[in-house]
Amino acid sequence: MTFHQFLPGCSRGDREAWRAFLSSYSPLALRLSSLYLPLAPPQLVAFWQEGLLALCSNDYERLRGFPQQAEREFLVDLRAFLLDSALPRLAPSHDATVPPAPTLETLAELFKGLPLFHQETVFLKLAGYSSASLEKVLKVDSTVAEKRLERLRPRYAALFERPGDKCLWPAAWLELTRSLRSAREEACASLRQLVRILDGQISWQEKTSIEEHMGGCLSCLEQWVALREVVCWLREAEPLPPEKISSLVSSLPFSEKPRQGKSLWKRLRGK
Ligand SMILES: [Zn+2]
Repeated sequence: MTFHQFLPGCSRGDREAWRAFLSSYSPLALRLSSLYLPLAPPQLVAFWQEGLLALCSNDYERLRGFPQQAEREFLVDLRAFLLDSALPRLAPSHDATVPPAPTLETLAELFKGLPLFHQETVFLKLAGYSSASLEKVLKVDSTVAEKRLERLRPRYAALFERPGDKCLWPAAWLELTRSLRSAREEACASLRQLVRILDGQISWQEKTSIEEHMGGCLSCLEQWVALREVVCWLREAEPLPPEKISSLVSSLPFSEKPRQGKSLWKRLRGK
């Protein structure tokens, strides 16, 4: 089943549609959560289950509240939904104090005059990605990525000393990225436009204009790196074994029969 086939089924409470949803997106959700949240693997699964229950509550109201869109746009919104839902549980005590968490001011200073490719690399490194993962997310080799990170080293050496993917400042970083998402303005690029840039399906003129804006807009940069993350981990995250998917499916609250879009009787009568 593809995204467009299972999503409508999920919002009607169809068990097999949810199985397809969970097989497709659980690895991605767990991979992202493991970077951003200070949780052990069993807690990450519990966090994903809580997120799923929130999507299912009130007759799938939250799931149906996502704008109707294509898969990658949906996944960027799903990522934001999950990270925002973690925020109330994160305390500053989860954050490293040396070096202190970046602020909007320190980001603006770091990115000043930096080409867009360097900005996206710096942004993802600050989020907590290792060099090996940066290569995967950005599809560049490590020497290119390292060169783009030169400006970051003096103040954030600690980011380079960690082997795996882990955010140094989960509470502060998620609060900062949440504030960037909520500060998006009319002039900001839409997710659809960002997907088209990624796919190379945009005119040179439009691409140049968006990239010029993005070079000075942290909100657009945040959406852009979010898109790069979901595209990468949709492809690269390790699949879950079928029994784990079944366990997730059985943790969801299904009514006996999936809710139909329209009853057969109404459809026959053309209502
Ligand atoms: Zn913008």
